[in-house]
Amino acid sequence: MLQADVPVYTPATLAEARQLLQEPGTRPVAGGTDAMVRFKDGVWRPTAWVNLLRLRGELAYIREDGDWLEVGALTTFSELLASRVVRERAPLLAKAVRTVGGPAIRNMGTIGGNIGTASPAGDSLPALYALDAEVLVNGVTTIGIAELMLGPGRLKLQAGDLITGVRFRAQAPDEVCTFEKLGLRAAHAISLASVAVRLAPGMARVALGAVAPTVIRVPDAEAALVAGHAAAAAAAAQEAARPISDVRASAEYRRAMAGNLLLRGLMRMLGPNLVSPIGGDPR
Ligand SMILES: Cc1cc2nc3c(=O)[nH]c(=O)nc-3n(C[C@H](O)[C@H](O)[C@H](O)COP(=O)(O)OP(=O)(O)OC[C@H]3O[C@@H](n4cnc5c(N)ncnc54)[C@H](O)[C@@H]3O)c2cc1C
Repeated sequence: MLQADVPVYTPATLAEARQLLQEPGTRPVAGGTDAMVRFKDGVWRPTAWVNLLRLRGELAYIREDGDWLEVGALTTFSELLASRVVRERAPLLAKAVRTVGGPAIRNMGTIGGNIGTASPAGDSLPALYALDAEVLVNGVTTIGIAELMLGPGRLKLQAGDLITGVRFRAQAPDEVCTFEKLGLRAAHAISLASVAVRLAPGMARVALGAVAPTVIRVPDAEAALVAGHAAAAAAAAQEAARPISDVRASAEYRRAMAGNLLLRGLMRMLGPNLVSPIGGDPR
């Protein structure tokens, strides 16, 4: 539901959308699941909405290109989950997306909108960081996901820029991965803390969500995991976290959970005997 007093443009092409977005104060809207909430709460007051719905033919896709996968910005979470390619070649993204909202939100919400919101609690983002993803802008340039995210709600984009997709290398068949999320409820919960982990011989990726102004990678935790030290990795995750306190959780709790979620993920991936608690003997 878009408000009557704010014009809504529904361009048919990317070029037209970009032109409309050159006007100061305009804002793109994809699934609207964040946009409408922020508008209703008075957080966002655009001069006009540029509804991307008619660009779905151009921007809702999942493509394989050798070792790479590319996902169009208007691809919904439900479409990602329904994709055998994503489940088999990017299982980390599938695991993260499965935790988003409920079916209605997953049917409307898009991966481009999750990136566009630039929330440190956006659930696809830790997975995209751990996949070293590149974001496609205007269909022509790419920017690393970490470079794009400047802070909560802030992206390194110019007026008129649109996120058109995201690309990353497919995960190797010998990898294990997990996405762990802590919320106040089992479903429809915004992350209080989250962690995406990938492990393969000689390779580890650890990205934390909701414990800093942006999602963060934790190189010290990754190095500890490559060396086989689970407890040291969890301690590094806690150390790296820079959470805030808010109505949902204190900073101290979020920091502790960053380490605990990593340990939980490692146990899920590797079995309970492979990790020791923080403070115990690192393995
Ligand atoms: C009840 C509820 C539960 C939710 N649960 C979760 C959850 O569990 N996990 C989670 O991560 N999120 C959750 N969300 C938030 C939301 O659903 C997601 O962030 C979703 O991905 C937003 O996508 P959208 O297409 O609806 O974006 P929109 O609301 O249309 O847009 C979001 C922002 O991105 C910008 N934008 C959209 N598309 C583009 C583009 N192509 N290029 C540039 N900017 C763009 C918009 O201008 C806006 O700033 C929830 C929301 C609700 C209402």
